[in-house]
Amino acid sequence: QVRVRFAPSPTGPLHIGGVRTALFNYLFAKKHKGTFVLRIEDTDQNRYVPGAEDYIKESLDWCGIPYDEGPGREGDFGPYRQSERKEMYSAFAKALLDSGNAYYAFDTAEALDAHRKDHEAKGKTFIYNWHNRLKLDNSLVHSEEEVQQRIDAGDAYVIRFKAPQDEILHLQDEIRGDIQIDTNILDDKVLYKSDGMPTYHLANIVDDHLMEITHVIRGEEWLPSLALHVLLYRAFGWDAPKFAHLPLILKPVGKGKLSKRDGDKLGFPVFPLQWEDPKKNEVSSGYREDGYFPEAVVNMLAFLGWNPGTEQEIFSLEELVAAFDLTRVNKAGAKFDPEKTKWFQQHYLQQTSNDVVSAQFMELLTQKGVDTSLAYVTTVTGLIKERAIFVSDLWNLGSYFFEAPTSYDEKAAKKGWKEDTGAIMKQVITVIEGVTTFDSTTLQDAVKGWITSNELGFGKVMQPLRLSLVGAMQGPDVFAIAATIGKEETIARIQKAIE
Ligand code: GLU
Repeated sequence: QVRVRFAPSPTGPLHIGGVRTALFNYLFAKKHKGTFVLRIEDTDQNRYVPGAEDYIKESLDWCGIPYDEGPGREGDFGPYRQSERKEMYSAFAKALLDSGNAYYAFDTAEALDAHRKDHEAKGKTFIYNWHNRLKLDNSLVHSEEEVQQRIDAGDAYVIRFKAPQDEILHLQDEIRGDIQIDTNILDDKVLYKSDGMPTYHLANIVDDHLMEITHVIRGEEWLPSLALHVLLYRAFGWDAPKFAHLPLILKPVGKGKLSKRDGDKLGFPVFPLQWEDPKKNEVSSGYREDGYFPEAVVNMLAFLGWNPGTEQEIFSLEELVAAFDLTRVNKAGAKFDPEKTKWFQQHYLQQTSNDVVSAQFMELLTQKGVDTSLAYVTTVTGLIKERAIFVSDLWNLGSYFFEAPTSYDEKAAKKGWKEDTGAIMKQVITVIEGVTTFDSTTLQDAVKGWITSNELGFGKVMQPLRLSLVGAMQGPDVFAIAATIGKEETIARIQKAIE
């Protein structure tokens, strides 16, 4: 039974990279008919940001990848917030102390800093492990009584993991294969602090074990912790889950990891939803508020580091579940491509039925205070949707369906509106008045017939006609526009243009 987890720390809004991790976990879980768990890793209270947990949940729901188990959706493995599991961890730290895999250390921050500087001065990196452990002020050199005395005296302590000496570890990653690590480069990482809080490493391993997680799928930034995590499983005598580290998401241009600032700089969101920072006076844009459909965002995210091995690019969530495979995830970093996201968005908008799109367009019109009917909006949507990427584009593409032009494109007017145009358009009005069945075909036949029999040339009539109705040389078939806005309005607009 596959059980995977997404384990974010609520330190701010979920970056697009976090959503990608959640998505791959979701896809893997669903593919194997397993369970997708959300665990909130909030042991670091200093970095806790109010609202971040809700933001995470809302993001997953918006993407259509809800978790099966987690805060508010209790399963058999709760609570799912580490702050609510606080009491559990000390026993596990104690177990490691008892088995000789961990030890108390009392080094002050100043002492550690001095050691670090001392090493730097000699051109060496300071690694807190067996090299230094015995030379440090406080470590294994302390007898059990001494340790107890210092604890009783209220000295601040940490419990550190005892990294093994002179061992080559063979770590397995589902994406990267065999990874060899020399244990001599490992730090004795802090597992537990005297404030009664575990660090990420201890809480993460204990919870993955207790929650019976079978596969840990997470970002590449956690690869350096893999050795420690595997050693922790060994120290506890537990079976480790399988690990898969997803490739980095890279900037669209230049080198390095995609950052929040890239979004601001290049004008695209790096967050799923808009985020208002509760501390700073800052709003970061989100895909949802920018008008993207979740399907487009999910499709884009799926291709950040994964591909199906075929030419197919458009995938529904169900299709992704069926096609997804960890072995098809790349090692190499994935370049983020905002234009491609737009391409997906355009595709999904075109695929979405007119009824759905026009309902959303109607909402937008209501917000703008435009008084209209859904039937009318549906007709308009059908005429202009083709050129739109976002629902909001429909307004820019078709505002003239709802309000008469108040100005005319100067260039086009100069080119298309000649001295005799006024007189010609007066006659066009008469032709239009004579059309009783006011649909685009009948109207077109009437106007075009009249043009031909008067040997006028189409441009002389069609251009001014479009200019009168639209205000610019854009939009769909001009007779379709006229038929939609109606006879009266068509005539009124031409009349106004003549004046
Ligand atoms: N809390 C870690 C994070 O914020 C979880 C890392 C992991 O999945 O092990 O990404």
